[in-house]
Amino acid sequence: MTFITRFAPSPTGPLHLGHAFSALLAEGRAHARKGQFLLRIEDIDRARSKPEWERQIYDDLHWLGLHWDAAPLRQSDRQTSYDAALDTLWKRGLLYPCTCTRRDIADAASAPQEGAAPVTGPDGLVYPGTCRAHPRHGQRPHDAALRLDMAAALKTLQSPARLTFTETGTGSQGETGQIILLPDTLLHDVGDVVLARRDMGTSYHLSVVLDDAAQGITEVTRGADLFEATQIHVLLQRLLGIVTPSYHHHRLIRDTAGKRLAKRDDARALSKYRAEGCTPQDIRTMVGL
Ligand code: GLU
Ligand code: ZN
Repeated sequence: MTFITRFAPSPTGPLHLGHAFSALLAEGRAHARKGQFLLRIEDIDRARSKPEWERQIYDDLHWLGLHWDAAPLRQSDRQTSYDAALDTLWKRGLLYPCTCTRRDIADAASAPQEGAAPVTGPDGLVYPGTCRAHPRHGQRPHDAALRLDMAAALKTLQSPARLTFTETGTGSQGETGQIILLPDTLLHDVGDVVLARRDMGTSYHLSVVLDDAAQGITEVTRGADLFEATQIHVLLQRLLGIVTPSYHHHRLIRDTAGKRLAKRDDARALSKYRAEGCTPQDIRTMVGL
């Protein structure tokens, strides 16, 4: 089987050193295995994605000396696939419409009658289930967010509900090798995640799973900050009949104060280093490659 990995940036700001590390690492792993390195433009957030940032991505990656082995996949071209998967899950009764605001969720999660302290999962506060009783019949609604009913989803899996994936890098706590997911953790520490945002018609979790499958990715390369989200992706793969690839979560590049670099840290933009006369080799050295 050909090794295929990818780099999947969002065109919502400049690429920084952390992106350069992820892209160079992915390409290096593909190269070492005589495999393929693919690019995906994650532009489901139409409000924040800008064509100029997408152009800058191609420009920065070319400057770094990176080449991808097929035309980039753009999420904005993929709505038909997202709709098909949502229809499948809706027809199985695994989704329900949710009209809660962030505020509603925070209030419900911290209500005294809930007893325990609110739990934070990969997407923030674990959803308290306010809208779970909303009707699930008829046409799939488009005027509300759609949440996955985690308990119902886990029940449809054949027992024992053994969900696993192979980690070739390390998770946020150094996890590596065969990672076993616990249904209890999915139920209580992940909960009813949003699979279609009202304003987007999809979500990061749904799109990333469908797109990695569409690009034939055999190993996902990405930052350790997404390790916890991987359990959602493995569950979705199981529900949708998609083979789980292996995952290579890598260390995060931090600034001098030890803080993880974010898109808003424009000071660390690759284009800035470039303008200051840095070479691609300098960038490799800076990220420890
Ligand atoms: N688009 C995400 C980002 O820019 C990466 C998602 C992934 O690699 O799974 O951080
Ligand atoms: Zn709700």
